[in-house]
Amino acid sequence: MLRMQGLPLTTDARGRVLRDLRVSVTDRCNFRCTYCMPREVFGPGFPFLPRTELLTFEEIERVVRVAARLGTRKVRLTGGEPLLRQDLPDLVERLARIEAVEDLALTTNGSLLRRDARSLRAAGLDRVTVSLDSLDDATFRAVSDVDLPVSVVLEGIDAAVDAGFGPVKVNVVVKRGVNDDEVVDLAAWGRAGGHTVRFIEFMDVGGTNGWRMADVVPATEILTAIGERWELEVEPPAVAGEVATRYRYADGAGEVGVIASVTQPFCGACTRARLSAVGELYTCLFATRGHDLRAVLRADGSDADLHAAIAGIWDARDDRYSELRAGRPATGTGRVEMSYIGG
Ligand code: SAM
Ligand code: SF4
Ligand code: SF4
Repeated sequence: MLRMQGLPLTTDARGRVLRDLRVSVTDRCNFRCTYCMPREVFGPGFPFLPRTELLTFEEIERVVRVAARLGTRKVRLTGGEPLLRQDLPDLVERLARIEAVEDLALTTNGSLLRRDARSLRAAGLDRVTVSLDSLDDATFRAVSDVDLPVSVVLEGIDAAVDAGFGPVKVNVVVKRGVNDDEVVDLAAWGRAGGHTVRFIEFMDVGGTNGWRMADVVPATEILTAIGERWELEVEPPAVAGEVATRYRYADGAGEVGVIASVTQPFCGACTRARLSAVGELYTCLFATRGHDLRAVLRADGSDADLHAAIAGIWDARDDRYSELRAGRPATGTGRVEMSYIGG
């Protein structure tokens, strides 16, 4: 049994600890990225969660406190678009007070960062990751399916740097024939601006994004394109369970990463759980169901009850979808959507 500060650490059926928790604060978003929330599905009649169903900030704090006692050290706020949740800095302030949480981060599409970067920083947020798939206005609009110029996101990134969040991580989902011709330009932009760009393989999450293997640009291809332009050196993982493979530019201009979840699965090191906005705990991105923690919270459950519930769920965890997927891509029926549990 693994131990930390004298306390036993919960491990799952494959010996993995519960190190990271992604907390979705809303299933709503102001973008309709084609690979995540295609407008044909997430249109005007889509049944988003009623606001009254969402976990309150107090409830989220309780879950995070208990998870921290079980070994969680990294917490990431996500969604949907987390900055659509009213008063998010208040939640950040609550979570920043939990001593055991060493890294409190946020993933956002960047559209509201100009408004929020300063208050998030003041509330105690450690890091910001911004998703940005193209520097070209037409491609950006086509991918995110939103009537907003890409300059708004770029200004959001600048605002995050000004607020003290630099270097900002920038997530790029690469899709064949959509933005694969921009990989080197995006890498050059990251180098020039001091941002850490991470290229993500298009994943078969959920069941609505029409995923096909033919649309996946393998990480090796992305690295070859970048490596032909600048010399790269492998950077060892900063922490165990890191999903990105990191490279340093040999000339000292920062780093770049790839997340090869399709072609090089990393389930063996997956220490991550996801909490939906209504309080279901998912132990895999490709799960078909979550475990209801809100029921425990709202049945006046004590922290000990919550502790027992989370520990029990994690103990039984045996997920390794990406490893099993190899060779038999699924179509995704019944699987939870990325916008629901947070990427
Ligand atoms: N709305 C925020 C954003 O876009 O940053 C946070 C939530 S979003 C679901 C989190 C991350 O998941 C984003 O970086 C997004 O690009 C990524 N993502 C969504 N669908 C994906 C897919 N099918 N394959 C790979 N990454 C995906
Ligand atoms: Fe919204 Fe993020 Fe999904 Fe795009 S990737 S639709 S910004 S939740
Ligand atoms: Fe973790 Fe599931 Fe992804 Fe494997 S497929 S890395 S277990 S979330």
